[in-house]
Amino acid sequence: MLDESSDPIFMFSPDGQYAYVNRAFADGVGRSQEAIIGKRIWDVFPQDEADKRFAIVSWVFEKGESKTIEVRVPRPDGDRYYLTTAKPIFDDHDRVASVICISKEITERKIMEDQLAHMAQYDVLTDLPNRTLFSDRLQHAIAQAKRDKTRIALIFIDLDKFKPVNDTLGHHVGDLLLKAVAQRIQSCMRESDTVGRLGGDEFVVLLPTIQDEQDALVVAEKIRAALNQAIELPGNHCLNISSSSGIAIYPDHGADDIELSKNADDAMYQAKEQGRNRVQIFCRK
Ligand code: GH3
Ligand code: MG
Repeated sequence: MLDESSDPIFMFSPDGQYAYVNRAFADGVGRSQEAIIGKRIWDVFPQDEADKRFAIVSWVFEKGESKTIEVRVPRPDGDRYYLTTAKPIFDDHDRVASVICISKEITERKIMEDQLAHMAQYDVLTDLPNRTLFSDRLQHAIAQAKRDKTRIALIFIDLDKFKPVNDTLGHHVGDLLLKAVAQRIQSCMRESDTVGRLGGDEFVVLLPTIQDEQDALVVAEKIRAALNQAIELPGNHCLNISSSSGIAIYPDHGADDIELSKNADDAMYQAKEQGRNRVQIFCRK
């Protein structure tokens, strides 16, 4: 009956030996039942993993109470996740004679949870940080710059005349263009910089350490020039686009993320007003 269960079921003796494992457990580990029964947990799992698991089993032996934990089993074809309940089995003298564990596989639920957590922070189309994650990084960068008395730059980039691409070639081509733009902006950046997509055709860049305005202007100009090169898309579409960017520097142009974002946005609109395909640094009127 135990071997027919699709849930892994296994039992420990007090010295950490597997007294019994069912077929589902053996399959999950990738060995035969015979190769596991009688072995100690350290013969089956890597040292640190075995130590972690046996700490729980020991706790159940010692306390005589049940415990439920989430377990990750690394497998070459992808990690598997289980919710495992360890229960004490008592002898006639009320001592814990063995610990029986029943696992429920939760890999699918776990993958879905991970995907949802990813979607809460990353833009689905471009996989760039979304507004929530970007704003979080910006706030951290500002806090760090405040402590270190350094400067950071925020660049708002909006594509010029993007709507006509959607209108003439379709939304699908518009999406492909946004993906290509995301990659092109990223190719201009360093590891420590963050590129995000706020929505629509609006991208943002955070440069967490700059000396002065000139550093930010150089990067923004590099991005403008890169986006101004023809973009080849699947389906034989070759598009020529341009972008307008606004730069705001912390602490010169804003004391917090809200003021800084508003001023980078204002600068970007000035760039649009001045004829597009240009970079504008914020200046107080
Ligand atoms: P401007 O030079 O003034 O920026 O003109 P624009 O045509 O680029 O206008 P705007 O930036 O205001 O418009 C952005 C458009 O992006 C509006 C919307 O139809 C389109 N859009 C928003 N999100 C998406 C998306 O996920 N995919 C596609 N294909 N289009 C989107
Ligand atoms: Mg636009």
